[in-house]
Amino acid sequence: MSFASAAPDVVPTGKLPADAAPISYTLHFKADPRQDRFEGHTTIQVQLKAPAERVWLHAQKLDIAKLQVSGADGKPIAASAHPHPDVGVLEVRFEKTIPAQKLALDFQYSAPFNAELQGLYKVKVGDDSYAMTQMEPISARVAFPGFDEPRFKVPFDISLTVPVQDVAVANTLQTSEKKSADGKWKTLTFATTKPLPTYLVALAIGPWDVVEGKPIPANAVRKNALPLRGLGPRGSKARLGWALETAAAIVPFFEDYTQQAYPFDKLDLLGAPDFSAGAMENAGLIIYRDAALLADDKSGAGQFRGVFNINAHEIAHQWYGDLVTVPWWNDIWLNESYATWGQAKVAMALHPEYQADLGALEGRLFAMGSDSLLSTRKIRQPIENHGDIQSAFDGITYQKGASVLTMFENWVGEDTFRKGMREYLASHAFGSGSADELIASLTRASGKGDAFAKGMRSFLDQPGAPLIKVQLECKAGKPSLDLAQSRYLPYGVMSKDAQQWTVPVCLRLEHADRSDTQCVLLDQPQQKFALEGACPDWVMPNADARGYYRFELDAEGFAQLAKVSAKLNAPEQLMYADALSSAFSRGTLPPTSLLDAMPALATSDLPQVATALLWRYQWITEHLADEPTRNALNAWAASLYAPSMKKLGWRRVEGESGTTTALRSRLANFLAFEARDPAARAALNQQGRSALGLDGSGKVDLTRADADLLGDALTVAVQEGGAAAFDVTQKAYEASRDTRHRYALLSALGSTSDPALSARARDYGLSKAVQLGEMGMLYGAQMSEPKNRAATWQWMTEHYDAFRARLTPFSAGRMPGMFSDGRCSDAEADSLSEYFAPRVKDLVGGERGLKQTLERIRQCGALRGHVDAKPLAEWAAMHKAR
Ligand SMILES: [Zn+2]
Repeated sequence: MSFASAAPDVVPTGKLPADAAPISYTLHFKADPRQDRFEGHTTIQVQLKAPAERVWLHAQKLDIAKLQVSGADGKPIAASAHPHPDVGVLEVRFEKTIPAQKLALDFQYSAPFNAELQGLYKVKVGDDSYAMTQMEPISARVAFPGFDEPRFKVPFDISLTVPVQDVAVANTLQTSEKKSADGKWKTLTFATTKPLPTYLVALAIGPWDVVEGKPIPANAVRKNALPLRGLGPRGSKARLGWALETAAAIVPFFEDYTQQAYPFDKLDLLGAPDFSAGAMENAGLIIYRDAALLADDKSGAGQFRGVFNINAHEIAHQWYGDLVTVPWWNDIWLNESYATWGQAKVAMALHPEYQADLGALEGRLFAMGSDSLLSTRKIRQPIENHGDIQSAFDGITYQKGASVLTMFENWVGEDTFRKGMREYLASHAFGSGSADELIASLTRASGKGDAFAKGMRSFLDQPGAPLIKVQLECKAGKPSLDLAQSRYLPYGVMSKDAQQWTVPVCLRLEHADRSDTQCVLLDQPQQKFALEGACPDWVMPNADARGYYRFELDAEGFAQLAKVSAKLNAPEQLMYADALSSAFSRGTLPPTSLLDAMPALATSDLPQVATALLWRYQWITEHLADEPTRNALNAWAASLYAPSMKKLGWRRVEGESGTTTALRSRLANFLAFEARDPAARAALNQQGRSALGLDGSGKVDLTRADADLLGDALTVAVQEGGAAAFDVTQKAYEASRDTRHRYALLSALGSTSDPALSARARDYGLSKAVQLGEMGMLYGAQMSEPKNRAATWQWMTEHYDAFRARLTPFSAGRMPGMFSDGRCSDAEADSLSEYFAPRVKDLVGGERGLKQTLERIRQCGALRGHVDAKPLAEWAAMHKAR
């Protein structure tokens, strides 16, 4: 749902009124990234559908020097421009009412390059200056005037006048180049785009390195070879190869899946030296945080996997989001869910060793965590203001949405689901398509009638995740299942609403000689289902973990499952671990039972399984254990993982699988920072000191540490090495042009818990040396060290304005959460609330961010108050000798 368009004479803070719509745009920018401002010239052909006194559109922070309006007859119409800067709306007011007709609105303006990584913004790296764009969701309006809503999809003609020595790119192929008479400027013209919403317009200007990739060959669905290029900051040329290679494989995968040719005339992948999110799927010109795009033979295995995954996500968007665009932000989940779902699909097909199914499942479990808050969003949340648009980009939109697609795909089968997807894309190509239209296509394909649509809607239009209580009965050899559903809520949380879903529940039934899966549709609060065949030995209530629901068994069922947990497949083991930790969160499972379940999982070769209960373990040691107990538990936990770590060693072995590397990274991190294992810290410290040249070499060479352990190695080296290590790390950070290295160095600086060095680190985060998109890493590292939290909070309150000024719209809403680590009581929630309540209005998306943070803190406090912590000490004493 969404709200109606605004009345024609009220400043529209949400949707624009329906009586005017763009037909096409001509955009010209004259921009030199070395300067502070740029000039723009925008002409919009507009269809005025009814007589009007004014046209509403969007513009923000633009200084409009000249506005000309001409009518259908080409004659000028007297009009003036009136900005409403606080809401980003521009009113073009006519001298008198004009009849419905085609209009041309012509704006000449100038504007500062944006300083918050949005719109057309600039970044300085050493002596080099770059300009690039980030329009989604509502920042096109700070780059050019327009109808800045996704439902308006029209062609754009873009041209750029830029310094003659710069490289400049836009959404489409360049068609011409012309030098200015003085030889200082050149004007590049680009081919007319396919119909695009404003948020997918992109351009970039600067001394970019350019790598011409091999064009992606024509195939059964695409007639022509597709030009492919990689771009990155000066000096990055040699690190673009992997991104190009992956793109060349990913594009044909989605063409085959969708049976739609890649929609645009070229594909550029551009790594930006500073960027607020991870990447942006602009049509034909995907822009990434350069650290997410670049890799070479010195990069870790995690980096290669990461580049593939983000590329897969953004390229999936070229179909979902770009070819077919959702009309309004309440359906943005569809873009992001499809891309998240498609990313896992292509990764499973091309790189099964990345285990994207387990990665997606971890995302699902994380989303279920957010979904247990009463203040969580629905997937399809009404969008009422600009803050709602920003906060729509969260785990519910990405991971829960993708999980719902996965669950219904699993229910109807992959082929049937693909048929529906193809029909949807084909019928809305180069236009708009809503979630309701997708549901209609999938329902037609599914052959399951209304139940399919009803089921999907039950997950899209209400918050929360179902908890399904499962009871197996065997009477006279005939098995049946009793299923009951309710909303999963943690201890102490009550909801007034009795919620109900239509859930495809798939169960694994294990018999002595076989294992089979049966799916039933649960659409009542409680239902009994007769099962085929004989009584199974045990039941896994979420077969292959494809369902977006949690489960609970009776004590006997849990005991059975515990005995056979090694027989479950990896996704089911994760789901089983989740059943334990969610029972713990409900206050029905004692902490010692959770600890009892850890050893069986800890020895897994799969990183996700081996570490599945560690976040709960950390909660127990932080909030329930006193110091001696914590130390004893940590020694025990270290001993659980030490054998695996010994086998793995502290460096990647040539030719080892990515899974092994990922396991090493996770275990090393846990051992060094949570379990505080002295041997692990010594091993990492040695690598970190060697990388920083503190081992006597005096030369910084970060490749001396294992690439996948670099961040942790530098962190230990800074934590243990005092001012000397801090100084070297800071210098290395400032000297590095490798963003990935910079992140590792900056996080290491932030992780110090020496009071004087911490104070230096915090002040440093506000200096020019630290880029906006990097800043959060430093403070995140500060807050993750319990010893620093009080001082960091104090510092933040003293520097709020300076800190706030450096937050991008993308990160502003996350600020209350950023400084809440460790809080776990009503009193601590109250003090956070007292501080932020008057400030959140100034933080885009901050109100929801604060509400959710407060709820998390209160939930934490309620559980801590409920759980009996006394048996922990005894348990720790008993398990010492392990
Ligand atoms: Zn996305």
